[in-house]
Amino acid sequence: MAKGFEVRSYGAAMTVTGSCHLLDTGDVQVLVDCGAFQGSRDLFALNRGDFGFDVASIDAVLLTHAHLDHCGRLPVLVKRGYDGPIYARPATRMLAEHLLLDAAKLQTEDFERAKRRGKNADEPLFDEGDVRAVLGLMKPIEYGVPFEAAGLTVTAQVAGHVPGSAGFLVQVGDETVMFSGDIGNERKDVMPDPVPSPVADEVLIESTYGDRDHRDFDATIDEFASVLKEAARRKGKILIPSFALERTQDVLFHIARLEDEGRIPVLPVYVDSPLASRVEKVYEACMDELSDEVRQIAAGGRDPFAPKRLAYTHTVDDSKRINASDEAAIVIAGSGMMTGGRILHHMRAHLDDSHTTLMIVGFQPRGGLGRLLVDGAPSVKIMGEEVQVNARVVTINGLSAHADRTELLRWSQSAGPAAHFRMVHGEPSSLEALREQVAARGQSAEVQPSQITLPDHGRKDEGGE
Ligand SMILES: [Zn+2]
Repeated sequence: MAKGFEVRSYGAAMTVTGSCHLLDTGDVQVLVDCGAFQGSRDLFALNRGDFGFDVASIDAVLLTHAHLDHCGRLPVLVKRGYDGPIYARPATRMLAEHLLLDAAKLQTEDFERAKRRGKNADEPLFDEGDVRAVLGLMKPIEYGVPFEAAGLTVTAQVAGHVPGSAGFLVQVGDETVMFSGDIGNERKDVMPDPVPSPVADEVLIESTYGDRDHRDFDATIDEFASVLKEAARRKGKILIPSFALERTQDVLFHIARLEDEGRIPVLPVYVDSPLASRVEKVYEACMDELSDEVRQIAAGGRDPFAPKRLAYTHTVDDSKRINASDEAAIVIAGSGMMTGGRILHHMRAHLDDSHTTLMIVGFQPRGGLGRLLVDGAPSVKIMGEEVQVNARVVTINGLSAHADRTELLRWSQSAGPAAHFRMVHGEPSSLEALREQVAARGQSAEVQPSQITLPDHGRKDEGGE
């Protein structure tokens, strides 16, 4: 490769989470994302390790979007000395503020709790001050309007994944490199369609679903409706572990629409997540980031994300009341990967009840609690307690915020015949599957190697969705 630059990956290479890619031109070093590793304990542990690159050498950061696996180590980067610009959409800054402050708070609470119990615990990785420092470095950017980052010309384009999400085309001399970020899907719901790849010499492409297509979207919504109907008949809790950002608003949007169409009974819907209620306010403030359909509903005077009996719970007491009651209700709470948060309390209280439905609507990484449940574990350990699984566990395929295999291939086709692809942000089987398909149509492609050593889970690599 006779190129005037190199792209090395220090996260989201050979794995999904921890996005962190370094564009090195020899003269300048630009970091694209600085995300947290998520999923198993071993992956979490990587967040405390060295970045693998010299923090002092970084000249600028481009942030694709506010999911923690893309921005979750920015406070660590700043704590370790980075004080340059972080370019991001205004919506990304608003969302990152809420997500990072929440992450700081959770870490501090976990640490204090462990200390009170006389247990050894890791110090929080960062605190509110570090998050404020990150926010202070953020520079707003527009889609489609070139800007300068460390002397390089960069253009952001709509990724259609979450509000503010962007892909970045970077000009290096007479060459171009495209960073896809997370690519949204083309179905008609909350987010607009992603803009296809521009012509580029080098393309880093996310490959989360590089080996499979989502279930047909209408069939997915039919299944979602029928599970809700059946769960209402069982008169138990319907627990939906969900990311506070994107999946929660998506689920609310579909419940509201199905209620309007008379396709599901109107049940109480509790969003047991103070973070999700803050994210909802960002959605309201950033309607221009959302799909035409959502904007039309809002313009008609109705809240697109409000089922008829929606309630956000704010205090722990509210949460405990829902937990203690036997009323049939939908409970949406974080975390989406079941690695913490209020959903664990609801799961601990209700998974042994055969009236309960656990509806999994998001990606579950290898080694995590969610994957064990998807795989049919008869009992699981939740917050130190062994819990029998008598609940109905249902996985709804096709609600992903990511492009599927067909959409990834379509997105990447337009990069042109000379493009060289590097597959990132996927489990090994997905990365390889996408590489093969891109290579089969004559474009050159490789699976991007990881610059850091990843834990070996010794498990068969199978998808959770
Ligand atoms: Zn994402």
